[in-house]
Amino acid sequence: MRDQRIKCNTHGVSFPAIACRHLREAGLSSPAVYVGWVQAEFDPNNREPGDLMAWCNECDKTYESGGGWNEDNEISAGFRVVCEQCFHELFSAQQQLRS
Ligand SMILES: [Zn+2]
Ligand SMILES: [Zn+2]
Repeated sequence: MRDQRIKCNTHGVSFPAIACRHLREAGLSSPAVYVGWVQAEFDPNNREPGDLMAWCNECDKTYESGGGWNEDNEISAGFRVVCEQCFHELFSAQQQLRS
């Protein structure tokens, strides 16, 4: 993996991941809100910086209807880089709410 570490205000130096605006807002609100979790496939044997990428159920609808990510639905998804540990926290928040 290329060295593309980022600095997270919470976790310090970490690797980058990408999450949609809704996952970030839902995971940070208290109590956390269930918005779903759709994660992009990646090759675990060939990791790239930023290949951890997830979006919510609503964004997945725009993803499906757009036939993939394009300029329009990417803007409404509001993707932003989060650190890998933040990403895992957002993931576990959604997992807990799902059960
Ligand atoms: Zn979303
Ligand atoms: Zn973090």
